[in-house]
Amino acid sequence: MKKHYNLLMIGGGPAGAIAARTAAKAGLSACIVEKRPAIGAPVRCAEGIGMESLAEFVKPDPCFISAEMQRAALVAPDGTTMILDSQSSGGKVGYVLDRKVFDRELVWQAAEAGSDVAVKTRASAPIIKDGKVRGATLEFCGTKTDVTADVVIAADGVESKFSKWCGIDTTVPLREIMSSAQYIVTDIDIDPHCTVFCLGNEVAPQGYLWVFPKGDRTANVGIGISGLKSGTGHRAKDYLDRYMASKFPNGKTIEWIVGGVSVCRPLACTVGDGLIIAGDAARVVDPLTGGGIYNAMYTGDLAAKVAIDAIEKGDTSKNALMPYDMQWRQSKMGKTIERNYHIKEYMINLTDAKMNAIIQTASSINLKEFSTLQLVKELIKRDPKLIFELAILKDLIT
Ligand SMILES: Cc1cc2nc3c(=O)[nH]c(=O)nc-3n(C[C@H](O)[C@H](O)[C@H](O)COP(=O)(O)OP(=O)(O)OC[C@H]3O[C@@H](n4cnc5c(N)ncnc54)[C@H](O)[C@@H]3O)c2cc1C
Repeated sequence: MKKHYNLLMIGGGPAGAIAARTAAKAGLSACIVEKRPAIGAPVRCAEGIGMESLAEFVKPDPCFISAEMQRAALVAPDGTTMILDSQSSGGKVGYVLDRKVFDRELVWQAAEAGSDVAVKTRASAPIIKDGKVRGATLEFCGTKTDVTADVVIAADGVESKFSKWCGIDTTVPLREIMSSAQYIVTDIDIDPHCTVFCLGNEVAPQGYLWVFPKGDRTANVGIGISGLKSGTGHRAKDYLDRYMASKFPNGKTIEWIVGGVSVCRPLACTVGDGLIIAGDAARVVDPLTGGGIYNAMYTGDLAAKVAIDAIEKGDTSKNALMPYDMQWRQSKMGKTIERNYHIKEYMINLTDAKMNAIIQTASSINLKEFSTLQLVKELIKRDPKLIFELAILKDLIT
C-alpha cells in the first residue's frame, strides 16, 4: 500500500469497486480498503438486478449469475397473485446474482485496471486538516497507518460511519431502517425463473417477503420489515420462519444472515471538502424495493468521474465536488428514488384490504412495460381516486 493515492475508497462493495475501476482506468492511483477478510461475504442481499442495469456496468457472465428471471409474481395478503412476465418488458426482466462471486469480480476488475486492494483493513478515522478530508487512518491486524488521498470516497455501506466521522449527519430514522433476515434454502419446489414478492401486514409489516430463485430447487428467501414493527416474537426472522414453515417445510437452510436496509431519503448532501459519499452510505437505495446494487455502481462510477475532473483541475473542495451531488439527483436514478419514496410512504400505510383491492385490479392489467411507473399509471386509470391518494406524484405520472 502506498502512503498517498488520488482516490481512496472506503468499502469494497459495488460502489467502492466501480469507483476504483473507473479511477484506475483513467490512470489515477486508487485503493480499495475493505474491513472484512473476504470481498463479497457475508451476502446481505436478495441479489436481484435488472438486466439492463447490470449491463450498464458489467458484462453479464454466467460465473456470477445464479439464475435468469422471466417473471415476477406479486402476492397480495389474500393470496391474489399478479404475474408480470417478460412479454410485458420486451423480454428483459432480470438476474439473481451470486453476489459472493459478483462483488469479487468487480474488485478483480478494479485491481486489473491498476487499483490496490487491502482486505481486513478498516478505516478507523478520517484525516482532516483545515476542515478538509485528506485521507484515512487504516487498521490492519492492530497496526494503524495513515494514508492520504486527494479525494476519499466513502462507500462503506448501510452501516457507514466514515461520513459521520467527517461531520455529516447520516442518521436514519428507526422506521426507515428495514430489519431483514434471509436464508439460502435448497431442496424446495419453486418456479426457477420467477421472483416472488409477498405483501401484507401479517406476512411482512411495512415491507415484503421475497423468494428469489438461485437454481432449479434453491432460492434466496428473505424478508424486510420496518424497524418499528420489530420486537420480541415478531422479528424479521420470526415472520420468515412462519413463511418457511407454511411454504417450504422440508426446505434445507444452508445459509442464514440478518441485516438492515435504509429506505429513507438520500443524505441531504453527499459531498464534503475532499469527500464523496456513494452507494448505501449515501442512502441511495430505492426506498420502495430496497434495491441498491445498480445505484451503488452508478454513484460509485459518477463519484470517481467527478473526483478525476476535480483532481485534474487541482480543486477538490466541496464546491468542486458538488457536480456529483447535483448530477445523481437529476439522473433517472435520483428521480426514481424520489418518486418511489412517495410510493413507499403510501404503501406502508395500506391496510391488507386495500392492498388486496389494488393487486386484484393490477392483476387484470396487461402492462406494456415492466416498471413501477407504468403500473402506477395503469392503476390510476382504473381507480382515478388513487391520484388524490398519491397526490404528490401527480406531476410525475400525468
Ligand atoms: C437483506 C437485503 C436484501 C437486499 N436485496 C437487494 C436486491 O435484491 N437487489 C439490490 O439491488 N439490492 C439489494 N439490497 C441492497 C444492496 O445489497 C446494497 O444496496 C449494495 O450492496 C450497496 O453497495 P455498497 O457498495 O454501497 O455497499 P456494500 O455492498 O454494503 O459495501 C460496503 C462495504 O464497506 C465495508 N466497510 C464498512 N465500513 C468500513 C470501514 N470502516 N473500513 C473498511 N471497509 C468498511 C463493508 O464491510 C462492506 O463490504 C439488499 C440489501 C439487504 C440488506
